[in-house]
Amino acid sequence: MPLVNPLGMLQAARQGGYCVGAFNLVDFLTTEAIVQAAEAKRSPVMLQTSSATVKRFGIKNIVQMARMAAENSPVPVALHLDHGTDRKVIGEAIRGGYTSVMFDGSKYPLPENAARTREIVDEAHAHGVSVEGEIGVVAGVEDEIVIHQDKAIYTTPDEALEFLRLSGVDFLAAAIGTAHGFYKVQPRLDIDTLRKLAHATDCPMVVHGGTGLPDDVVRQLIAAGAAKMNVSTQIKQTYLDGLHGYIESHRTEYNPLKLLDHARQELVAMIGRYMEVFGSAGRA
Ligand SMILES: [Zn+2]
Repeated sequence: MPLVNPLGMLQAARQGGYCVGAFNLVDFLTTEAIVQAAEAKRSPVMLQTSSATVKRFGIKNIVQMARMAAENSPVPVALHLDHGTDRKVIGEAIRGGYTSVMFDGSKYPLPENAARTREIVDEAHAHGVSVEGEIGVVAGVEDEIVIHQDKAIYTTPDEALEFLRLSGVDFLAAAIGTAHGFYKVQPRLDIDTLRKLAHATDCPMVVHGGTGLPDDVVRQLIAAGAAKMNVSTQIKQTYLDGLHGYIESHRTEYNPLKLLDHARQELVAMIGRYMEVFGSAGRA
């Protein structure tokens, strides 16, 4: 089917007590693997791209890749721009076929973040595109921006509600202690804040930094109201480990299709496991 606006799938997830995975694609193989895992598990799914991937391929080519993968698929697939900071790129995504965008204004003070986000929301909604906002700061490395885990800024429920009211975003990433990349120390998660936030609004909550969280923590986050969870680092690791592993054991074989197929199958299995833990399996 055509790419869908993810708001409906995220609202259904919040009501149904599960969450939808948003997996970062880096090329057509990863795009295919994410959609194939969703088909195998009968799960709704979000494809998403970082700014680095957008820089590499351009909005137009990414939209074509995503459409090609989603077109013949019976499950709903959304295409989301992750951590958009450049107004121009976000505008191109909105007009170019993305079905949701994130504006990351977390470096600004809350009123300015909300005002800048509001502009994006107005433009996006006019095109049937939904918007994710972020408040607080998620630790880790995101496109070369390094935030140490002890420097991450946690969100308070009052700030989050104020931001929701001012910005009008459709779903919200609130910093609750998860981090991008692999966890170097056990994260100190503020699940209580997430729960309070979720109780105060019916806006779907987004958790960044899904890679490496233990299954029971993921289930606690979902129970607290997380409806979208981002997985990026694990995609890159499984992809490259799959390639390295195959090459090491088939050093004299020169068949790229076999190599790529091996990595794709590893990705489909890994992503499918996330969909089971997220509870989105069987929901499409
Ligand atoms: Zn993130």
